[in-house]
Amino acid sequence: MKFDPQRVRANAQNSSTEDLMDRMTIWREELEPAAVEIIAAELVRRGLGSEAIEAHRQRREAAGVHRSDGIAWKCSFCDQPARDRRWGWHRLWGWLPVFPRRLAYCADHDPHGRPA
Ligand SMILES: [Zn+2]
Repeated sequence: MKFDPQRVRANAQNSSTEDLMDRMTIWREELEPAAVEIIAAELVRRGLGSEAIEAHRQRREAAGVHRSDGIAWKCSFCDQPARDRRWGWHRLWGWLPVFPRRLAYCADHDPHGRPA
């Protein structure tokens, strides 16, 4: 997909601060360098500098599950960072278990429902 700064800027302005902080930290390696600049500028506009971003990264690191390359796993059910991975059943039509696969769970989708 072609990088479109205007689209990225509009998207950043409409994203939650938490979402932007996640992108600047755990998903940063997956971003275009120009997108990192746009998101950083949007966070500065919201009064959040590098210290706030670093604090966020540390919180996520303490709670999240990281791959060996330092990037977090994404939840299998939404866009939040996963904090646990385990075997689960891939379900056909949402209910028929067909084969086991590794699933990643964020705090909201963790079937064990551990408190955050
Ligand atoms: Zn989730």
